Amino acid sequence: MQATATKQEQKTGYFGEFGGQFVPPHLAEKLNHLYEVFLKYKDNPSFKEEFKSLLHTYVGRPSPLYKAENLSKELGSTIYLKREDLNHTGSHKINNTIGQILLAKRMGATEIIAETGAGQHGVATATAAALMGIKCKVFIGKVDSERQRMNVERMEVLGAEVITATAGNATLKDAVDMALGYYVENPNVYYLLGSAVGPHPYPTIVRYFQSVIGEEMKKQILEIEGKLPDAIVACIGGGSNAIGAFSHFINDDVALYAAEGAGESMELGATSATLTLGKPTVFQGAFSMCLMNENDEPLPSKSIAAGLDYPGIGPEHAHLKTIDRVSYHPITDQEAVDAYRLLSKKEGIIPAIESAHAVALIGKLFKDKNALVIINLSGRGDKDVSRL
Ligand SMILES: *Cc1c(COP(=O)(O)O)cnc(C)c1O
Repeated sequence: MQATATKQEQKTGYFGEFGGQFVPPHLAEKLNHLYEVFLKYKDNPSFKEEFKSLLHTYVGRPSPLYKAENLSKELGSTIYLKREDLNHTGSHKINNTIGQILLAKRMGATEIIAETGAGQHGVATATAAALMGIKCKVFIGKVDSERQRMNVERMEVLGAEVITATAGNATLKDAVDMALGYYVENPNVYYLLGSAVGPHPYPTIVRYFQSVIGEEMKKQILEIEGKLPDAIVACIGGGSNAIGAFSHFINDDVALYAAEGAGESMELGATSATLTLGKPTVFQGAFSMCLMNENDEPLPSKSIAAGLDYPGIGPEHAHLKTIDRVSYHPITDQEAVDAYRLLSKKEGIIPAIESAHAVALIGKLFKDKNALVIINLSGRGDKDVSRL
């Protein structure tokens, strides 16, 4: 562990062998400038104060750590929920969008662009852009725009222009491709990437802003229980809520688990279980893992959860899997729907279908284990109610 961490520090933008920046020179220049700005401000007291203050008064942080007594009784372990679903706009995405829009403001950006899958990142970006008075465009796959209609309408009310990607599978990957294209071609545009994926420096920046989740979680569990949990479980699409939750526990004796979207079955083309079935490759600007066919071409992903429906994964997760620090488990659509119903009925909390994957994984791993476990409840399920 220690040796790996040292190696990681030596090579900027890498997590072990994964990460990096595989993009054309013009884009590399923009990204390197962004990294310089990030380094300049991340420990700057007035920047940190503005970020913290907005998280507190606008987002509603710290989010509570709630002891789910009914679910605990049902599953035979002590289960806490980190309530990211209670954040303004309904998920963890807002932590990162507030952080990045403060960078964009300092860079003098005149337009914000973003990609979105579940629509949660689009809504969070449109929200942050409205707050700062900056123009905003959100790219979304056509399939996602149909299954997450309510979020598209929210983005429009917030004043963002929503642009539909129809290429490929018309899901998140295609929205990212379109956003990257627009970013390369237009100066003064800030690309507000929504997960811990893509070329350096995004995985580092997104992790930084999302690590507030793990920081609070650690303080809260120590206050309530007087000890660290046995395990933390998060769902994983690109990996931002998971890395945010795990970040402050990587060097502790705490087991870390992430639930991938298995889709309907674990067959290539029908699943989003990148870390279980993927192979190492360069995909969307970074060396990480990706679902690929036998000719090593990227495959479309599939999941009932738009936020998990992505064939790639953040490079830090590829690294954490390789060194066996986090274990990644596929959860099927049906298992997630069952967990969505279970949490709703037992606790009166409707989780996002993405977050329900983490709830399902708890049921599989910790049934009658008498363990102390935290689920990072990444978002709320209002967006899924009419569909499930
Ligand atoms: C976007 C989203 C996810 C997946 O994204 P990560 O970057 O893996 O966290 C999970 N849950 C919710 C509620 C989301 O909106």
